[in-house]
Amino acid sequence: MNLLKETGLPTEKKPYLLRSGAGEHRLFGRQVATIMADSPSTDNIFGMVMITGGKEDSFPSHIHENTHEGILILSGRLEIKLDGIKYLLTVGDYAHIPAGTEHSYVMKAHRTRFVSYTANGEIAELYRIIGKPYNQPEYPPNVNSDIPTEVLLDATLHTDIQLKKQPEITSEVASVTSLPDSAIPYVIYSGEGDRLLTGDQLHRIIASQKNTDGQFIIVASDGPAGDRIVEHYHEHHTETFFCLEGKMTMWADGQEIEMLPGDFLHVPAGTVHSYRLDSHYTKMVGLLASGLFEPFFRILGDDFEHYTFPSEAMPLRFDRVIENLDVLDLKVVNKPK
Ligand code: FE
Repeated sequence: MNLLKETGLPTEKKPYLLRSGAGEHRLFGRQVATIMADSPSTDNIFGMVMITGGKEDSFPSHIHENTHEGILILSGRLEIKLDGIKYLLTVGDYAHIPAGTEHSYVMKAHRTRFVSYTANGEIAELYRIIGKPYNQPEYPPNVNSDIPTEVLLDATLHTDIQLKKQPEITSEVASVTSLPDSAIPYVIYSGEGDRLLTGDQLHRIIASQKNTDGQFIIVASDGPAGDRIVEHYHEHHTETFFCLEGKMTMWADGQEIEMLPGDFLHVPAGTVHSYRLDSHYTKMVGLLASGLFEPFFRILGDDFEHYTFPSEAMPLRFDRVIENLDVLDLKVVNKPK
């Protein structure tokens, strides 16, 4: 299979590339949901949907009974309400929504976009029920039609969503917390999180296994142009690479792929892969599912007190990874230099 020739969401689990804006589009109200990963394409390991809409577009209060959800803001401003508490989020901010947490949102800027990660692919079905097929990723200037209540109620019968009415808590915007050590709702502002430096790259764990009951972890990483990382594969967990800024090169399944902002690569277990950051500032974010690979970042990485990568690379402590290979889901294909 040629990753570079595939242009849509596959109907079976395999490595795939979605260029910026690619995926399956659904229109609900004025918002467009672009399904980037669903049950068939990931073997129900995770779901990923990008939502794009305009100022004051919203979604009513609801819960998911089984899946944790992570929301990362890509552009604009999003007011999100978690268990009745309002947060105003902007680019790079992350909201963590454990299963059972009542949540809703209102977009507060024109062309607001965010990505929603979930622990299984079922949430994508929600947008197929409430949305109509649409042929592009950008939202239309006019409101098409509101989501009828009966359509939302129908969605509660077929997907992991239950509609709820949240208590009205009219306090000011809640303060931002650091990464908690249990599965509670939280918000992490851009640049925050558990910061770990690997050589010249700074990784921020913004959702850890403790926050997701092991369902997934989310890691935002940035760095300068640098070396290609060692080729490897994983036996058990799926990885995803979503380029947010700059430019990077990825190798997967024997193919070389140049990735620009908005490009997404799905790397299921067993796929040999590697990457290199090519721009003076490249940022990417990855959901890894399950979350069992979290120790890798903590073993290879050094805790870093600052919020951007250093001007001079620190030593890459791959020796610590080699020492712990028996406990890491990592198979190195070519030994590092
Ligand atoms: Fe990997």
